[in-house]
Amino acid sequence: MDGDQQPLPEPGSDELAALVTDAATRDIYEFLHRRRANPPTMVEIRAYMANKVGESHSQTDRRVRSLRERGFDLPTVQNGREHRYVLKGWRPGGPRKTGPKISKKIRAQVLAPQRCAQCGKTPLEDEVKLVVDHKVPQEWDGGDEIENLQPLCEDCNGGKKAWFATYDAHAEEIRTAINHEEVHRRIGELLKAFEGEWVYTELIGIVASAQAYQEDYQKRLRELRTLGWVIPHQKRHNEGARVRTYYKCVSWEPWPDGPIITEIRRREKANKAAKAAAKTEGQTG
Ligand SMILES: [Zn+2]
Repeated sequence: MDGDQQPLPEPGSDELAALVTDAATRDIYEFLHRRRANPPTMVEIRAYMANKVGESHSQTDRRVRSLRERGFDLPTVQNGREHRYVLKGWRPGGPRKTGPKISKKIRAQVLAPQRCAQCGKTPLEDEVKLVVDHKVPQEWDGGDEIENLQPLCEDCNGGKKAWFATYDAHAEEIRTAINHEEVHRRIGELLKAFEGEWVYTELIGIVASAQAYQEDYQKRLRELRTLGWVIPHQKRHNEGARVRTYYKCVSWEPWPDGPIITEIRRREKANKAAKAAAKTEGQTG
């Protein structure tokens, strides 16, 4: 534990009431405090709050985030496929900064192309100001490593922030999906989290490339169909001339026991062999 961390305020104490003024957020704190030896998952926290005060998932997610903003050290630990919320301590004056701040050297390196990575505008020709942007935002566990950084003009950066904010209700699931090691699992778990809703392809791209850049994430997505997933897509022309592609997961299959890519290649081979056999039969019969 870090040196400047304070002991946790006791549930029901004046200290806690002064620190967390909102009663429902205190309920979550007290639940987390009680469950320190057996930390709950977000599903359990949501169920607890839905039962106790009848609030929606997104309200609960927001309260958990607000505890972190108030300086509570509340990391998630992964146990198999579950993420558990561990209440560890708190420090006055806000949350712990994750990792070192981006150094001057890295910042200069990221901005060196002097061109917005999204719209292509430049400070010289278009008089835009460039900022260092996190491709996977920090709220979704995106880090400060150079692979996750890009130059964006202030307009594009603002637009991106607003767009990410529309996914606030799903932030927890997105974070969980992003943390999987295998690209197929990242994509699949993201689609599952949206429970049959259409998911914009750009979001899928960000989640797919979170751990390792994906040249062709849409191909990785289509490969899930080889595993028996039903994933229709849709093109929409709702934004001027720009065509947007969406995918949704209608039904899914459990993950294979071994590496996912091995199972996909095995099935591709079997499908090919079956096709070839059918063709030969057609010719001779
Ligand atoms: Zn731009």
